[in-house]
Amino acid sequence: MANLGTPAVTAEIIKKYNFTFQKKYGQNFLVDTNILKNIVAFAEITNEDCVVEIGPGIGTLTQYLAERAREVLAVEIDKNLIPILKETLSEYQNVSILNEDILKVDLLKFTEERNKGCPIKIVANLPYYITTPIIMNLFEGHAPVSDITIMVQKEVADRMQVGPGNKDYGALSLAVQYYAKPKIVMNVSPHCFIPRPNVGSSVIRLIRYDVPPVEVCSEKKFFSIIHAAFNQRRKTLANALSNSETLTDSDGERMKVSRQQVYDALEKMGLSMTIRGEALNLKEFAQLCNLL
Ligand code: SAM
Repeated sequence: MANLGTPAVTAEIIKKYNFTFQKKYGQNFLVDTNILKNIVAFAEITNEDCVVEIGPGIGTLTQYLAERAREVLAVEIDKNLIPILKETLSEYQNVSILNEDILKVDLLKFTEERNKGCPIKIVANLPYYITTPIIMNLFEGHAPVSDITIMVQKEVADRMQVGPGNKDYGALSLAVQYYAKPKIVMNVSPHCFIPRPNVGSSVIRLIRYDVPPVEVCSEKKFFSIIHAAFNQRRKTLANALSNSETLTDSDGERMKVSRQQVYDALEKMGLSMTIRGEALNLKEFAQLCNLL
C-alpha cells in the first residue's frame, strides 16, 4: 500500500470508497508525511512497545506506528472506515482494528491479554470534540498507560501546560499535571489536514508519573474542590467552595464546607482570605484538600 500520508493517496482512497467525512466524529485526516514522522519520533516508539491508537481514520498514522511498534491496536468508532482500514493495513500483521468507541474499550483487559499487564503507549490525532473525556478516562481508568502523545486543538494543549496567572489555567491543567508531565512538542497548521480544521493544532506528550507529584487524602475530594473552585472562577475561593452544590468527600458523598473552614485552611497555608482558586497551584490545592 502506498504511503497514505500524502494528499493525493488520501484523496484516492476517499474517492475509491466514496467516503464522506463525518463532522460529528471530528474527522480531520493528516496529510503531511513530515508531521506523521515527527509524531512517531516524539512518541519514542520501540519494537517492544504495544501502542493503542485512538481514531485511525484511514490508517495513515497507523502505518507509521506499525513500522515501529511490536503491536498496535487501532480503535475506530466509524464503521464506514473499517473496510478501508482492512485494506490500507492489510500488510501489517501486528495491527488489530477494533470498531468501537474508545470510551467503551476495556484497556485494562487489553493490556493484560496482549502486554502481560505492562504499560501501553497511546498515540493519536484525537477527535477534538471529546479530547478531555478521552484524556481523563485514560488517567482515571485502571489500565497501565506510560505515556500519551496526542494531537489536540492548540488551545487545549496550552491549557494542559499552564499554571496560575495564565487565562487558560483551569481544572484540565491541574488534572493533567497531577497525573503527568506535559510537554508541547510541535505546533501543526490547519493546512496539514483534509478537511482543514478551523483551529490550530499541537502535539503534546504526557509522560505519566509513577507517583503523583503531590499527596492528597482523596483524589475524589481533591478534584471536586478543583472543579468547584473553577466553576465560579471569578469568586473568591471561600465563596466558591462554601456556595458549591457539587463538592463531594472521599466517598463521593455531598460535602458542605463553610466559609470559615476555608478561611482557616487558607490562614494555615499563609494565603489571603480573598484569594481566588485560579491563583492556587497544584501543591496548594493538595494542601487545601488535606486541610478541609
Ligand atoms: N488518525 C487519523 C489521521 O490522523 O488522519 C484520523 C484522525 S481524526 C482527527 C479522528 C478520528 O477519530 C476519526 O477517524 C474519527 O472517526 C475517530 N473517532 C471519533 N470519535 C471516536 C471515538 N469515540 N472512539 C474512537 N474513534 C473515534
